[in-house]
Amino acid sequence: MKLKLQVTTEQVKPQPFDDSPTAWMGTGNCRKYPPTTFFPSDGVGVDRARAICKGCPVLDTCLEYALTERIEHGVWGGTSERERRRILKRRRGITA
Ligand code: SF4
Repeated sequence: MKLKLQVTTEQVKPQPFDDSPTAWMGTGNCRKYPPTTFFPSDGVGVDRARAICKGCPVLDTCLEYALTERIEHGVWGGTSERERRRILKRRRGITA
């Protein structure tokens, strides 16, 4: 008996990454802006990115992700690189 393999267009369509651990990224306020907005080169740019983060439905998740993954660059969870370093330093002080 010969089996026929039938592949439909539906099967090869890229699937959304809903079950991905980073699926929350798709619901952040930043999805409407160019990624470069969140990698500013000056304080004005940081403030602009922070303003977009303000009120983001996944702000806490985003910040924890950046802290856990030790992401050094860019604005994540409404924080700058320097602010995240301070948070991590404070946390180390608490657990030490
Ligand atoms: S907190 Fe900011 S960087 Fe994080 S998902 Fe929301 S808008 Fe994007």
